[in-house]
Amino acid sequence: MSFRLDDQDEPPVAPRLAPAIGFQTDGIHPSGEVGLPEWLEAVRNVDTRTLGFKIMPTKPETLVQGEKMRGEVDSFDYVVAGAGSAGCAVAARLSESGRYRVMLLEAGGKDRNLWIHIPMGFSQVYANPHVNWMYESEPEDRLDGRRLYQPRGKVLGGTSSINGMVYMRGNAADYDEWRQRGCTGWDWDSVLPYFKKAEHQERGANEYHGVGGPLHVSDQPHRSELADRLVEAAAQAGLPLKDDFNNGAQEGAGYFQSTTGMHRRWSTATAYLKPARRRSNLVVRPNAQATRILFENGRAAGLTYVMGGVERTVRAQVEVIVCSGVFNSPQLLQLSGIGPGDLLQGMGISVVRDLPAVGKHLQDHFYVRLMFRCTQSITMNELANSSARKAFALTQYLLFRSGPLAANGVIAGAFARSDQRLERPDLQFNFTPWSYASRDARGAVAHPFPGFSLSAVHLRPDARGSVRIKSPDPLQPPAIRFNFLETKSDVQALTAGMRLARKFTRQPALAPYVAEELLPGPQVNTDVEFEENIRVTANSNLHPVGTCRMGPEGESVVDPRLRVYGVDGLRVVDAAIMPTVPAGNTNAPTIMIAEKAADMILEDARSRS
Ligand SMILES: Cc1cc2nc3c(=O)[nH]c(=O)nc-3n(C[C@H](O)[C@H](O)[C@H](O)COP(=O)(O)OP(=O)(O)OC[C@H]3O[C@@H](n4cnc5c(N)ncnc54)[C@H](O)[C@@H]3O)c2cc1C
Repeated sequence: MSFRLDDQDEPPVAPRLAPAIGFQTDGIHPSGEVGLPEWLEAVRNVDTRTLGFKIMPTKPETLVQGEKMRGEVDSFDYVVAGAGSAGCAVAARLSESGRYRVMLLEAGGKDRNLWIHIPMGFSQVYANPHVNWMYESEPEDRLDGRRLYQPRGKVLGGTSSINGMVYMRGNAADYDEWRQRGCTGWDWDSVLPYFKKAEHQERGANEYHGVGGPLHVSDQPHRSELADRLVEAAAQAGLPLKDDFNNGAQEGAGYFQSTTGMHRRWSTATAYLKPARRRSNLVVRPNAQATRILFENGRAAGLTYVMGGVERTVRAQVEVIVCSGVFNSPQLLQLSGIGPGDLLQGMGISVVRDLPAVGKHLQDHFYVRLMFRCTQSITMNELANSSARKAFALTQYLLFRSGPLAANGVIAGAFARSDQRLERPDLQFNFTPWSYASRDARGAVAHPFPGFSLSAVHLRPDARGSVRIKSPDPLQPPAIRFNFLETKSDVQALTAGMRLARKFTRQPALAPYVAEELLPGPQVNTDVEFEENIRVTANSNLHPVGTCRMGPEGESVVDPRLRVYGVDGLRVVDAAIMPTVPAGNTNAPTIMIAEKAADMILEDARSRS
């Protein structure tokens, strides 16, 4: 198969190829105009088989099986809405035995954009409307009225196809807390087997890690001088060195692992759908957006969805499983009459079940970025500012799958406590070997000199927000509110994080590499100055959860078996069900949720038959 960059689903990505190196741009920024047309033309003709890329099959009959004539209604045992981190895993597991017929609907298209599969290419899909919902929050009151950009994958693999690929599970105590909040069966000891089941750990199996699972987890392809120094500096500042952040205990500094395999992104489409693509009982339907859940006698009986501008219906004989993500899952429930009664009535939607928790309890990590000018030319900025180096890096990657594009960029970091009285870390530090002069949803412009960044992420903010439909039209985005910085302790934790990040850079190991602190800058020193800086620069860390949270009836949306309260035949399975956000990136926990959910769904099916 010859790989075509200008697939009919998407416009050519070629004009955006060159500025990839860690800096997203849509070609609008002047620095994005690199002009390598001849070279790009050559790339167009690359045979992906020689690179080891196996792009999702293009023939409709291999992806869309069981297609019916218009007017006929499809019928499956399980209908899954959303082929993201969770949806791909759930659908693949449910179809594994061959016993059940499963349909997987995905609003986005196939994952054929080349940049999806290149680890460093994530910057190129950060704001690409062909694979990304590109949501924005409502203006945030305590953040100077800023709207926060919210990328979300709209493509097979969902956000696992556009994310930063850091493999992080969180702290064991996070899951023990879930159990304490009424989520029986979700404590660390109960969820660990599902993390392992999903995993193919490059280092091999041990008490905490599995091999043979669909999700490849790898070490960084190469060490970096700056990351080495950062880790050393964090140790000099008092943190232990850490070789594995995923054994339940996190405090310390070290290199991060990533969800990559053979130096390619390992999205859930790659992990779960590719091995399943010849299953005749699994129908994957891209470009199909679920619009409403249908109910019969109090039971979810199917879905309506829009594909190619036409509304269609699919019946679910056993269950409808909503995996549309933290923003779209509550939206789909609300559009279908499950949610806060007053909101639905106001929109003219008949209430099937008044569940006020649908769309409530939105929680996210909150972070601030510190940037530094580096004394040495060992950062990605040099690459981003040179067309020749970028062309070389891409060629190197395409031919040998090595070089700077083979790494996911978020190389190393640390976990620490903002207050020594805390029992577990509430801060994560992410090191990235680049810095930029400006960045927004359209892209980032690298500094014209060497630089690096250190993000301080508050992992346990008090802030709780919401997702509420603004219109009964399923194609209109919902209103997203985070309410960041609601409490003083959120400001204090992030201030402590910034001070600690700065402390790392002043240690003997790292200090010689710091020419200047660019952000927040040496003029920021007092608590008041830090708070002001946080208000104008801090951002969502893109790990939102909780809008269909699991927990006790009355205050939650789903029970510990992820069944929606008060309706039969309906579950939510994705990041939205998390009762609280774990202390770490959220892709691995979401996949764990999907693995456990699939087990429970199959168990329930067996007990019925
Ligand atoms: C830019 C970015 C970087 C990130 N980096 C990391 C990282 O490095 N490591 C990490 O662990 N986590 C990271 N995350 C977070 C992590 O990827 C997400 O938490 C996780 O992917 C969420 O999975 P999900 O299944 O809940 O939702 P998604 O993966 O978003 O899946 C939802 C799917 O449903 C589809 N959908 C939505 N509505 C409908 C509908 N009505 N009908 C049909 N389909 C629909 C969507 O198109 C999507 O494919 C990052 C997130 C972002 C945005």
